[in-house]
This record gives sequence, C-alpha cells and structure tokens, in this order.
Amino acid sequence: MVILGIETSCDDTAVALYDEKKGLLSNVVSSQTKIHQEWGGVFPELAAREHTKNIFPVLDKALKDADLTLKDIDAVAITVSPGLIVSLVIGVSVGKSLSVLLNKPLIPVHHIEAHIFSIFLTQKVEYPFLALVVSGGHTEMYIINDFGNYQFVGSTLDDAVGEAYDKVARALNLGYPGGPIIDKLSKEGNEVIKLPRPLLNEKGKNRFNFSFSGLKSATIREIEKGIYKKEDIACSFQNAAVDVLVFKALDACNEFNLKNIVVAGGVSANSRLREKLKEEAEKQGINVYFPPLYLCTDNAAMVAYTGYKRFKEKGETITVDFQPMAKCRMDRFKEYLK
Ligand code: ATP
Ligand code: FE
Repeated sequence: MVILGIETSCDDTAVALYDEKKGLLSNVVSSQTKIHQEWGGVFPELAAREHTKNIFPVLDKALKDADLTLKDIDAVAITVSPGLIVSLVIGVSVGKSLSVLLNKPLIPVHHIEAHIFSIFLTQKVEYPFLALVVSGGHTEMYIINDFGNYQFVGSTLDDAVGEAYDKVARALNLGYPGGPIIDKLSKEGNEVIKLPRPLLNEKGKNRFNFSFSGLKSATIREIEKGIYKKEDIACSFQNAAVDVLVFKALDACNEFNLKNIVVAGGVSANSRLREKLKEEAEKQGINVYFPPLYLCTDNAAMVAYTGYKRFKEKGETITVDFQPMAKCRMDRFKEYLK
C-alpha cells in the first residue's frame, strides 16, 4: 500500500510517498523562507500564493523520486488542521481532487499528531510516552497511550517557544526563521543575563503550562538597552527557554510515571534542547527520542506515515465535504472526524 501525503499548513509546501512495506519512498519540501524573510514571519496571502505555485512541481518531484506515477497511489493523506486556513485549503483541495480522480480513500491528518508520530519513521518507542511538542505555533505536552489515545497535560498560555525564538531573532535583526540562527549564535556567547524562567515555581496542575511571552519581552528589553553582544543575548535567551522545557517535561514524567519522552516540532532541532534534555533525563532513567533533523520541521513524510496509521489502525477516512480547521487541539480531533 502506497500513501501520498500532502502538507501545506504553514509556509512549507511538502509532498511525500510512504510504502507500508518499503517505508519512506520520497520526501520533498519546498520552503518559502526567503519570501517571508522580509516580513520577519509568515505572510498568509503570500504563503497561499506560493503553495499554489509550488504544489504541482513538488508533487511531480515526489513521484519521480519514488519512481512512481499517480496510478500507483492507494490513498491520499492531507493535513486538515491546525494551520493557516488560506494555506491549509491549498493542500486539502489538491488532496480532495486527487482522491476523487483516482477513486482512492482520503485520510485526514492532524499536523501536531503527525509531528509526534514521525518518530516511528526512524525509531521504535514504547507506549506510553510523553510528547513534548515544541514548534512555531505550539508548545504543549500530552501523554500518548497509543495511536489515537491522548491525554492533554499542559500548553503555553501565550506564545509558542518557536514563536518566541523567531521574535527575539527579529529584534536582533537576524532573519527568519530565527530558531536555527539563535541556536548557532548561542554557541559563541555566554549567559551574561539571567533571564526569567516563566511558570517554573507553579504548583498543582498549572505547573505543566508554559509561558514564553514574558521571557520574549524581557529579552527584547535587554536588546533595546544596546549594551550586550548579540551572541550573549542569544545564549541567555536559549538557556532560559531550554531550562523551562527540560524541567517541565521531566516533572510531567515523574508525575505521570512515564519512562519515555518524544520531542516533536521545529524546536526539537535545537542543539541545546537535544543535549540538555538527554543529559537530565538519563540521570532519572528516562529515555528521550528526537526525530532526525530532516523530520523536525514541517514535512509530508510525517503526514503520509500518520495517514497510513489512521487508515490502517482506525479505518478513518473523510469525504470531499470535510472542511479544514485553523485550530483544533490534538486530543479533540477525534470529535471533528465523527
Ligand atoms: P506548528 O507545527 O505549531 O503548526 P510550524 O509548523 O510553523 O508550527 P514547525 O515547522 O514545526 O512550526 O517549526 C518551525 C519553528 O521551529 C520555527 O519557529 C523555528 O524558528 C523553529 N526552529 C527550527 N529550528 C530550530 C532550532 N535549531 N532551534 C530553535 N528553534 C528552531
Ligand atoms: Fe509544524
């Protein structure tokens, strides 16, 4: 069985092919970062226009790389939520059209679920595990008991950690996306400013929530003083952000007696998070799993694979009248599919 995956939820146009026997056959991503750099973030109308331009060349390349034609596809998986609605509709429309033309099932995929389950493309992880989702639009934790069985633990009350990275980078005039640039720059700097570690001393259930807006603002105030080197600001910000993520993920593991953590989303590419979380978790006998770098940020391999799982394990498909949604928490996705 061969699944075609399509991902257009934000500013990357991506198509991939996954074969249940052979694994990932192709994985093509066309990034729009150059176009959005000028704005220091994603400009929705531009993103939608670029998706329209790129989707067919990307589809074509994915088929060529896999040495397949459209006739070889057994099902089409599409990201339907969450994301920029003007971007989502492009991939969803192309997916619906292909499913109708080829007379093959159409499978809905939740973007965050796909980020998490992409781990299984390269590694074996035992259930249950804690999913630490750290991306451009989300910072949240779930207990993953099985595919489709999720318990929400906590999320950010304001900015996502990736968003904070991007905004600090913009204030430092470093370009977009800011995460990888700050990550690299941090290595040349020192933690000269002790920035706040928000919600670290919370009690009760609220301690599993995050807040990055205050840390972002505090960092920007230090930048505006004009006295610190960029690399020192980058390092101070990164250390604070990573400390919070590591502390809360391990706290959740202890509270819910979990021995495995899967980190997902763009910020899982962060070198300090990869190092620190592994080091601290090891001390407590907890295993940490990070996707390889090419699966950290947006891609369609994760969509094709998660679509395959949904079809195979749950038999869940949708019809062409299904509408994409800008927002939908992962543990509530099931209700939308009914
Ligand atoms: P979401 O998945 O929440 O819908 P998104 O799809 O826009 O949002 P991703 O593609 O998963 O987000 O991740 C992009 C984010 O990851 C950006 O904010 C980017 O700055 C950040 N990022 C990428 N690499 C790194 C890194 N090495 N360190 C820190 N942040 C990084
Ligand atoms: Fe994403």
